[in-house]
Amino acid sequence: TMAHSKALLVLENFIAGKFVPCSSYIDSYNPSTGDIYCRVPDSGKEEVEAAVKAAKAAFPIWSSKSPLERSQILNKLADLIEHDLEAFAQAESKDQGKTITFARTVDIPRAVYNFRFFASSILHHTTECTEMATVGCVHYTSRAPVGVAGLISPWNLPLYLLTWKIAPAIACGNTVVAKPSEMTSVTAWMMCKLLEKAGVPHGVVNVVFGTGAKAGEALVCHPDVPLISFTGSTLTAQRITEKSAPHCKRLSLELGGKNPAIIFDDADLTQCIPTTLRSSFANQGEICLCTSRIFVQRGIYSEFLERFVAEAKKWKVGNPSDPTVDVGALISKEHLEKVRSYVKKAQAEGARVLCGEGVDSLALPTGNQKGYFMLPTVIAEVKDESCCMQEEIFGPVTCVVAFDTEEEVIERANSVKYGLAATVWSSNVGRVHRVARRLQSGLVWTNCWLIRDLNLPFGGMKASGIGREGAKDSYEFFTEVKTITIKH
Ligand code: NAD
Repeated sequence: TMAHSKALLVLENFIAGKFVPCSSYIDSYNPSTGDIYCRVPDSGKEEVEAAVKAAKAAFPIWSSKSPLERSQILNKLADLIEHDLEAFAQAESKDQGKTITFARTVDIPRAVYNFRFFASSILHHTTECTEMATVGCVHYTSRAPVGVAGLISPWNLPLYLLTWKIAPAIACGNTVVAKPSEMTSVTAWMMCKLLEKAGVPHGVVNVVFGTGAKAGEALVCHPDVPLISFTGSTLTAQRITEKSAPHCKRLSLELGGKNPAIIFDDADLTQCIPTTLRSSFANQGEICLCTSRIFVQRGIYSEFLERFVAEAKKWKVGNPSDPTVDVGALISKEHLEKVRSYVKKAQAEGARVLCGEGVDSLALPTGNQKGYFMLPTVIAEVKDESCCMQEEIFGPVTCVVAFDTEEEVIERANSVKYGLAATVWSSNVGRVHRVARRLQSGLVWTNCWLIRDLNLPFGGMKASGIGREGAKDSYEFFTEVKTITIKH
C-alpha cells in the first residue's frame, strides 16, 4: 500500500551529480528485526550505461586537476563524513546488523580515514628515473589515471570497503562507477549526499545500486570501464574474471579466507585469548580476516580451550543498537542458515560443539525475535579435511585443533585453497620469523590481529585474491605507467 511504502526508506542512484529514481526496486531487510525497511534500486544495463557516460564526461577535467586540488577535496569529504559519524554509524548498524559499537569505532572512522589517508599519500608518490650515460639516455616513468574505474564491494564492511576503493581511485584522477552490495547500500547513498558540498565535481563519483547479477555484471561487461576493483567472494571473482576476459580488463580481486591462528606453547595467553576471541567473532565473524581455524600446541591445548570457551560464553548477543552488545545480527536469513548448517555438518562428522549454536540457548529482546542472530560457536575435534576446516563460513564459528610440531602446523595451516591472513602466537622471535615466512598468506599478524598500516600491501594469495591494495599498490593499480626515454 502507499502508506506502507511511504514509511520505507527509498534509495536512488547517484549519476552525474543527481539522484535519479529507478524503474524497479529490491527490498532490503533490517537483519536485527527481520523487517523490510528500505528499497534499493534494482539497476541494470541502462542505469550503468548512464553512470559510465557521466564518469567518462567528468574524466578530462578531474584527471587534469593537480594532486593537491584532489587531495583538498578528499579531505573535505572526510571531514563531512566525520561530522555525521553518528548518523552513518546508526545507518550502518541498522542496515548490516553489526553492533553500533563496531560501526562507531571501526567502520565509519575507517571510512573517514580512507579519504584522509589517500588525500595525503597521493601527494608523496615519486616516479622512477634511470640514466644510461654511455648512450646518452635518461629513462623515466610517468603515471596517469586510467579512466572510469568500476568498483564493486561486499556487505560485511559496507562504507569501509567501498571508500577503500573510491578514495585511491579518485585521488589518482580516475572517475568511478561504484556498486555497493544490494544488502547494504544505505551509507553509500548517504555519502553521495555529501559529495557536492565536498567539492567533488558532478560525474566523478557515480553510484549505481542493485544486484550483482544485473548491475554488477553490466559494469563488469561495460567496454568503457577498463578496470574493476572487486571485494567479495571467490566464486563471484571467478565469474567477474570470465565476464571481463573479452575486454582484457585490469582486475584487483580481494576475496575470501580460511584464516589460521597458530598458537605455540610459549604464547602469552593473556594477550592471545582475548585477541583470538575478537579475531574469531568480531563483526559476527563476518570479516574476511577473521580466524576460523585455531591450531594450539598440544601442551597448552586443554588450558587454552577451557579458557577460550569460558570467555566466548561471555560474549553478549542481542540488539545491535545496545552499546553493551558484542555480537549483532548476521546479514540475512539465508546466510544465517548457511552458517548454522556448517555447525550441523561438523556435529554429524563427530566434532564436538563446545559452546554456542545448538548447545546454549539464545535469549533475544522482544523486538529482535525475528532477527538473524547466532551465538559465538566453538567447535573442537574437527578433521582437517572437514568442510568446517576447508570452506569459508563467514560467521561466528571457529574450530580449535591441537598440533605437535612447527613443521606440522605450517603444512596444515597451508592446506586450504585460501591464503588471506594468519596469526602466529609465540614469544620466540626466531620462530615467529620462520613461521611467518613459510605461511601461504598475504598478511601475517604475530602476537596481534587487525593492526594495519595502510601504506603496506593488503591482499591475498591463492584463492584469496589477485593484486594488492595499499598506498603504493593502489596507486599502481589505479594508474597506467609509461616509460619515456630521452636521448640527448
Ligand atoms: P559476493 O561476492 O556475493 O558479492 C560482492 C559484491 O559483488 C556485491 O556487491 C555483489 O552484488 C557483487 N556481485 C555478485 N555477483 C556479481 C557478478 N556476477 N558480477 C558483478 N558483481 C557481482 O560477496 P559478499 O557475500 O557480498 O561478501 C562476502 C565475501 O567477501 C566473503 O567471501 C569475504 O571473505 C569477502 N571479503 C573479502 C575481503 C578482502 O579484502 N579480501 C573483504 C571483505 C569481504
